[in-house]
Order: sequence, then structure tokens, then C-alpha cells
Amino acid sequence: MTQTIPQPATPGNPATAAVPATPAVPVTPGRDPAPLLLCAPMRIEARAIRRGLTAGGYPAQVLRTGYGTTRAAQAAGLVRDRPFGPIAVLGVGAGLTADLRPGDLVVGTEVGAATCGSAPLLAAELERAGLRARTGPITTVDHLVRRSERSALAAEGYLLADMESGPLAAAAGGRPVAVVRAVSDTGDRPLAGLVSGGLAALAALRAAAPVVQRWAAACGTRQVLLAGPRSFCAGVERAIEIVERVLQRQGEPVYVRKQIVHNTRVVGDLESRGAVFVDELDQVPDGATVVFSAHGVSPAVRAEASRRGLAVIDATCPLVSKVHAEARRFAADGYTVALIGHAGHEEVEGTLGEAPESTVLVQTPQDVAAMTPRDSERVAYLMQTTLSVEEAAEVSGALRERFPAMRAPGSDDICYATTNRQAAVRAVAAGSDLVLVAGSANSSNSVRLVETCERAGTPAYLIDSAADIQLSWLTGVSTIGLTAGASAPPAVVEEIIAALAGLGALSVSERVTTTESIRFGLPKEVRQ
Ligand code: SF4
Repeated sequence: MTQTIPQPATPGNPATAAVPATPAVPVTPGRDPAPLLLCAPMRIEARAIRRGLTAGGYPAQVLRTGYGTTRAAQAAGLVRDRPFGPIAVLGVGAGLTADLRPGDLVVGTEVGAATCGSAPLLAAELERAGLRARTGPITTVDHLVRRSERSALAAEGYLLADMESGPLAAAAGGRPVAVVRAVSDTGDRPLAGLVSGGLAALAALRAAAPVVQRWAAACGTRQVLLAGPRSFCAGVERAIEIVERVLQRQGEPVYVRKQIVHNTRVVGDLESRGAVFVDELDQVPDGATVVFSAHGVSPAVRAEASRRGLAVIDATCPLVSKVHAEARRFAADGYTVALIGHAGHEEVEGTLGEAPESTVLVQTPQDVAAMTPRDSERVAYLMQTTLSVEEAAEVSGALRERFPAMRAPGSDDICYATTNRQAAVRAVAAGSDLVLVAGSANSSNSVRLVETCERAGTPAYLIDSAADIQLSWLTGVSTIGLTAGASAPPAVVEEIIAALAGLGALSVSERVTTTESIRFGLPKEVRQ
């Protein structure tokens, strides 16, 4: 069944009749907001929603639309072209999958003919409010769903069934629309559980109401400025391709020391295909193949792999290998190497390991002042490849001041991808109210992109996915800069754009500061 709290709608529903007959109003950040229309099929649902609304929150009207598809279609006809901003359909519904429990909220991604692009943002906001929320397709049917029918609908990919959302969501036209249904009953719950399930669902609806107000406040017409270049660099593409090719050739499992690149999406995807990420080589079985990550390893790790008889395939980015080679060369020539970088980063650990007796990590000008080189005339510096250009210049300036005869690397250690992405995001930050940077928290180059924006005076947020966007960030924001770190997949950027487009009309333009054509060859072990 789809509704567990029978509450037949009265003919000539007064709430429906009360819909004002004035033209639709577009939502624009910073302007007087067009009210949020909250459609609730039954009186008991409408009451729960009204009780949950925050008085000082986004202006909202609750409209009781009536029970069942026929009344929903009638209400949809009245709602269409009326003076509302965002539209949200809230109510209870029948959970279709075994993992749903009464009181869980399902935020519709596809509901009938409507696509609710901002569902991931709203679901994540509901979760942050302490509610259990999932995203997925919702189906609207014209009858109560029997137990056997639930399995069939679940097999088609639906999470929840109701009797009203489809027509009401379609009535949104081009306006932002959200559908939030609280699970009141599930296939494995006996009828005796209906009352408690219904109460749990109504409590969840009430708690969801103020969150839906926040969603409405975040809706509006916007533009996105895409930074170009962004996302994968040549070293990351090469590293991912190496793991994919090893998986193709050898089958699973394929062991990878450390995250192949610092991105949770990439790592999760490769894990699902059979890659096993380990912290150290003692987690790799004897005789197995192990891939070294793009960040490189120290000679000690290579020696350990050799001692263990492991077959190594090296996905170290060639630009990281170049820094390793410089460290070896300077150390062999009797230089003290000042390595500008961040303590604990895998790339820094690997480079330090090339000449540990001769290399000192300097993170700040204070570290430079504290240096005690063997010979101040024989000091050289190197850099982590993913530093902020400004931050590195500050430390290298302090080094140059203290050691005027200091040797520099043959060419810049901060790699082309890092430099290009920082220049590109600087260009979009200048014209944006805020910048979203797609990337994982442990991705150095992604974190540097956030810092670059902040240095330019534009607030910026690092997000792993669209779900990390907090709705409060978007209130009053009309121009959003968008970029992705060198390890973040292009698909994440597309998902973010799709989610933002679900909040209102979105124009997307790209500001390209340079184009990249660099490609790195694959190691011989995986070449065809
Ligand atoms: S960010 Fe630079 S150093 Fe790191 S993998 Fe990409 S190209 Fe190589």
C-alpha cells in the first residue's frame, strides 16, 4: 500500500481552491522571494508540515492537494502557472526496498516525468539535520501497492511509491521542484506496524519542513563560471590507466600501495573493480603485483618490494620522478637540499627518502631561519609538485635571502597542472561570489585551489561531491566559480552542475586561461 494513514480528501478541497490566480514569479537571489509551495496530499501530512515550518525561514504556503492520483492531477492543474517560486511535494509513501525503514525520507531524483536535479543537495542537508535520507526514483501509481508489486517496482529501480507526486512534480514546469516522501510502511512490515510507521513518517515530515525551507532559500537563477583547465592532469590519467590495465590483464585483486591518486571517487571506483589499496607493503601477499601510486615512493619502499619478490608497476607521475632525480643529483654533489613541501604528504615522504641525510623539509620562512646546512654555499631547493605558487614563492624567497648562492631546480617543480589550475581558478574567482572546488580533503592540489581563491578574497569550498554543498552557502549567491583538482574526475563537475541546475535556471560558461596537451607514456609492463 502507498498510504498508511487513510485520510480521504474532501471533494472541493478548500486549500486547493485557495491557490491565488496570479502569474508565476521567477526566483532571483537577493530579490523578494516568491513563496515556496509545499504540496501535501492529506490533511494529517499538511498539519505535520505546517508544524515543522520555521517562522523566520523562507516564506512558504502549505497546499493540501488531496489523496490519490485524480485529485493530484486536479491540484496540479491549479498549481501550474501560479505565483509560486520553488515547489516541494511532501507526504508519506510506501518503501519498496528492504533497507528502508519507517521514518526514512526518500528524496526523489526522477518523479514521473519530472527530474529533481537538486535531490542530492536536499538529501544531504536532511542528513546533516539528523534525518535518514536517501535519493532515488519515486513512482506514482493509481492504487495501493500490494506486497508482490513492491518487489517488481523495486526491481525497476524505484525506492518508493505514492499516489500523488508525479502529477504535482510535473506542475512545477521550469520551477525548482523537490519531492520528499517519508516511508510509512515497507514490504516486510505487517499491518500491525502501520500506526507506528505512520507516526514515524509524520515526525520525519515535520522535521524535514524547515530543511525544505532552506532548500527553497537556496533556489534561484544563477550562472556558473567554469575554470579551464580543471580536473584530471596527465599524471593522474596515467596512474588510473595503469591500474585499469593491470586489472584487465591480471584480474582482481590488484594491490596498490596508498591511494593511487588522492580522490575518494576514483579510489572507490577502482576498489569496486578489484583494486585493493594498502598502506604498506606488508599487506601485500608474497609474489603479488603491487602498483606504486602517482605520488611516488622512497628508495626504501622499492628495496622492500624487491626483497619481498613483489612485481612492481610504478605509476609515479614522471614529474614527481623528476624531483626525485634532482634530489639524488644535488645530494650526490654535496648539497643540502631544502625541500619546500607539506609534512606527511606521500610525495614529500618519497622525495625525502631519496637522500634523507642531505634533505631538510621547509614549510615556512621560520623553518628556513632554523636551517643548519653543512655548507651555506652549497644549498639547493626543490618543491613538492602541488604547492601553491604564492606559498612556495614566499618560502623560496626566504631561502634565497638567507642563501644567495642557492641552486634551483632545472625547471619548476610545481607542475604544469598545478600552476594552470591555480591560474584558471584565480581568473574565475575574480568574478564569482563563491567558488566550489571539486576534490578530496587529502588532495594537496585541490586544497591549494581553495587557498588560491581565499587569497583572492573569494570564499571557496572543497567538495568531494554535490552532496557536500551546504544550502546556506548558496543563499544570495548568483555567480558560482567551479573547478576541480587534478585528481577529481570530470564526472563530479558534471554532477555538481546538474545539482545546481535543479535549484533554478543556470547558465554555464567556461573561462579558459590555457589549454593542455601533455600526455605521459605508460610503463612497459602495461604497454600493449
Ligand atoms: S598534479 Fe602534477 S605532479 Fe601530480 S600527478 Fe598531476 S601532473 Fe603529476
